[in-house]
Amino acid sequence: MNEGWTLLALLLVINGLIALSLSAYSWMRRQRPGQAAFAVLMLAAGIFSIFYGFEITTPTLGGKTLWLILENLGIVFLGPLWFLFAADFTLQKRFPIWKLALLFAIPTLTLTWFTFGLWPRFYYTTLTPFSLPFGPLLIERGLWYWVQMGYSYLLMIVGTILLVRSSLAQPDLYRSQVTIILLGVSIPWFANLYYLLLPLIFPQTQILFDPTPVAFTLSGLVYSVGVFGLRLFDLIPAARTAVFDDIPELVVVLDTQDRVVDINAAGQRWLKAPREEIIGRDARSVFKSWPSLVEEYIHVEEIHEEVHLPGNSPEYLDLTILPLRDHRGRIEGRMAMGRNITPRKQVDNQLRLQSAALDAAANAIVITDTQGICLWVNPAFSKITGYKFEEIVGQKLSILKSGLQDDLFYQSLWRVIMAGETWNGEIINRHKQGHLYIEEMSIAPVRDTEGRITHFIAVKQDITDRKRIENNLREAHQRLKVHVQEIEALQVKLGEQAIRDPLTGLFNRRYLEETLEREVARATREKSALCLAMIDVDHFKDFNDRHGHKAGDLVLQALGHMLADTTRAGDAACRYGGEEFVVIMPGATLEVAHKRAEEWRLAFQEISTSLPEYARTATISIGLACFPEHGLDSEALVDAADKALYRAKDSGRDRVIIYGAV
Ligand code: GH3
Ligand code: MG
Ligand code: MG
Repeated sequence: MNEGWTLLALLLVINGLIALSLSAYSWMRRQRPGQAAFAVLMLAAGIFSIFYGFEITTPTLGGKTLWLILENLGIVFLGPLWFLFAADFTLQKRFPIWKLALLFAIPTLTLTWFTFGLWPRFYYTTLTPFSLPFGPLLIERGLWYWVQMGYSYLLMIVGTILLVRSSLAQPDLYRSQVTIILLGVSIPWFANLYYLLLPLIFPQTQILFDPTPVAFTLSGLVYSVGVFGLRLFDLIPAARTAVFDDIPELVVVLDTQDRVVDINAAGQRWLKAPREEIIGRDARSVFKSWPSLVEEYIHVEEIHEEVHLPGNSPEYLDLTILPLRDHRGRIEGRMAMGRNITPRKQVDNQLRLQSAALDAAANAIVITDTQGICLWVNPAFSKITGYKFEEIVGQKLSILKSGLQDDLFYQSLWRVIMAGETWNGEIINRHKQGHLYIEEMSIAPVRDTEGRITHFIAVKQDITDRKRIENNLREAHQRLKVHVQEIEALQVKLGEQAIRDPLTGLFNRRYLEETLEREVARATREKSALCLAMIDVDHFKDFNDRHGHKAGDLVLQALGHMLADTTRAGDAACRYGGEEFVVIMPGATLEVAHKRAEEWRLAFQEISTSLPEYARTATISIGLACFPEHGLDSEALVDAADKALYRAKDSGRDRVIIYGAV
């Protein structure tokens, strides 16, 4: 018999050590829900079990009683600890200190009274050893025992309800975990019912061994299988609330029949329906607003792609479907995750448009870093420079340098852009093929949010053709200008010709008439003098006849030059016709005019000497008329001068005669 008791005691101690190990393991992971309370619960079960073993193997009543006291250190707290574990595990409920104190009040009282032997019969009425030296104590239960027991059971019932309810609330996918929890919960109950009820139903049976500590340890082991094997504490229920509901993506879990098993908060917001209305329904009806989505993906087991949801304001979804497998790899359902990527898509689309615009731009566009190293170019750049994208990216833009612009030019360019300003100008560059071209360029700095210059963007344009056209135009313009000058000179000449006599270079009769009219009008207005001299070569007909017309022309030219040389500014010497000349002398008085006419007569004699000998005999006669004495208009004056000339001829030629003089 003693061997039997020793074996039982050994089993109890081993059981206690297992419980303590579970306790230590859980304590190390105490930040997870329920784990801290579970650790203390296992500690209590361990204490109960080990000291129970000691009680059985201790030979004296006193010794056994001492171990019983220590056992109670575990026993009395099992109920509240179980409740704490359940509350923390299922509700993540942490109690404030005063509530904890209240929870542990009754067990503490029990322990105190029993330990210090107060009201000895209050808790256990009698303690009798079943057998000596080895064997357990037989107890008679006192009044307080039932209070303590009732309280413990009450808390265990509440804890059990919490655990069972939480287990049943889990979706099918967590079936294994639910089974574990229900199994774990039931073991201590069966043990307790057996220990409590059997003596009540069959009063003659004596139950010597209390299986409670073993039951709790077994229960702890079952939970630990959950912890190790099924990651019980990881998934239920903390993961649900912490991760599942808080992630911004829509997450929906479907079972193998495409029924919604679970949906997170984001999913409920998307569908604008609470979880209760969605769970258990067929995915086709839940997602009926997006029929194309359902049709395309209802049978897809695994995928990750972007989905376009057409509508008034089209939406884009980043959809992931993953199969969910049990620990044996069988598919238990699928999880679909959706992220609304509409805003990102909109930005993407805008970027694509902008990038297409850059690609299509006729201007070359190049982005460089602050060292001038090329990071990106558009197709127009390649067209203008001859360098392909992959040939130029990573290179310094200075490989385009023609060498025709000096360092100072480039230094000033860099000074402008490094100062954060935009540089505009023309650069002569060398094409990849070697020929030169001119480009018009703007370089603008790009700044980051802190205002530092990070990149430069240059927009360029090949203006070689434009330049050539400009140059051609400039040259054509120059030629045109010369041409115009020639024409103008010609026009002046023509104008001159219109009023000049070609033989002598003097003004012609037309000019004379216009000028005389004007000058008479002015003299009238200003009441000033004006004289008119009419000159005629004497016996010119004879001269021509004798020496020939050519010789006559020479005489006329010589007379013309003489008159042109001797007339003053303001005077006008004209060939009136044939070998007759008229000189208008505005402002000249009769005396002055007469004096000058005499000078011309004498001067003509002088120039005649420079002519061939035959011309030496040529003389001129001059008739003078003055305003206002001899006529008040041009016609009258010409007429008067003509009359005076006639008189000069008449009275012997080679003389000056004033109109009206005898
Ligand atoms: P008078 O002394 O009376 O003036 O005698 P005249 O021979 O000069 O007579 P008149 O003045 O009538 O003569 C005009 C002559 O002038 C006629 C013509 O032979 C000559 N004559 C007119 N125009 C020209 C010309 O352009 N060249 C030349 N060589 N002779 C001209
Ligand atoms: Mg004449
Ligand atoms: Mg004459």
